[in-house]
Amino acid sequence: MKTALITGGTKGIGKAIALEFLKRDYEVVINYHADEEAAASTREEFNMLGYYPVLMRADVGDERQVRAMFVDLFSTYGKLDVLVNNAGISVVKVIQDTTAAEWDRLFAVNVKGAYLCAREAVDKMIGHGGCIVNVASIWGEVGASCEVAYSATKGALIAFTKALAKELAPSKVRVNCVSPGVIETDMNARLSAVEVEDLINSIPVGRMGTPEEVAEACVFLAEADYITGEILSVGGGFAK
Ligand code: NAD
Repeated sequence: MKTALITGGTKGIGKAIALEFLKRDYEVVINYHADEEAAASTREEFNMLGYYPVLMRADVGDERQVRAMFVDLFSTYGKLDVLVNNAGISVVKVIQDTTAAEWDRLFAVNVKGAYLCAREAVDKMIGHGGCIVNVASIWGEVGASCEVAYSATKGALIAFTKALAKELAPSKVRVNCVSPGVIETDMNARLSAVEVEDLINSIPVGRMGTPEEVAEACVFLAEADYITGEILSVGGGFAK
C-alpha cells in the first residue's frame, strides 16, 4: 500500500486531496497545524466514511516540528510515497501595509514549509522512488495586485518545483506543481459578492473551481510516472 502525507489537510483543498488519496487506497497521513478541533472533526468525518487516516500535528514552517513529524511518520510506515505540500496562508494587502513579519510568515509557511517537508521526505524517497506535489497558485505565475507577498511565495514554490524536479529525476523522485485558480474555500471567504462576480466574469469556464477538482489533479500528478517539473494549472482557463 502506498503512503501519502498531505500538509494542511483538515480543511479546504488539503482535506479534498486527503479524501481523494484515501479513495484510492493510499495510507494517508494528514498534517495539521494547531487546530485540534478541526483535526478531531476531520478524523470523525473520514471515519464515518470508512477511512482511517492518521493525523499528525506540526507547524510546517518550524524545522523542529517538521523533523519530529517525519520521525513519527517513518517509525510508523517506514517510507513515504507521496508528499503533497498543500499548507498555505495568504495576506491581502498593498505592499506599503504588508509588514516584514507578515512577509516572513508567508515565506515560512508557503516556501520554507515545502522545503522542510521535501528535505525530510526525499531522504527516504531516494532509493525506492516517490513523488512530491506542491500546491502553488495562478498568482505565482501571473502575479496579483494586493497579494504581492503571497504571489512571491507561490512564484518561489514554482521555481523550487522546477529545480528540485531536475535534481531528483535521476533518483526516481518526481516533483510537480498544481497551480489552482480561484477555488471555493475559506481562503476566498473574505471576498464580497461583487468581487466574486467580477472574478467569475474573468474565468473562461464561468465559475470558481472546487477543492475536489484540485485534488483530482494532485492524484493525477502523483500517478503520472513520466511527468516531472510540470506546473499544472487548475483554473478553468483563468489568467491564461
Ligand atoms: P484553507 O485556508 O482552507 O486551508 C489552508 C490549510 O493550511 C489549513 O488547513 C491550515 O490549517 C493549513 N496551514 C496553514 N498554516 C499552516 C502551518 N504553518 N502548518 C501546517 N498547516 C498549515 O485554504 P485552501 O484554499 O484550502 O488552500 C490550500 C492551498 O491551496 C494553499 O497552499 C493555498 O495557497 C493554495 N491555493 C488556494 C487557492 C484558492 O482559491 N482557495 C488558489 C490557489 C492556491
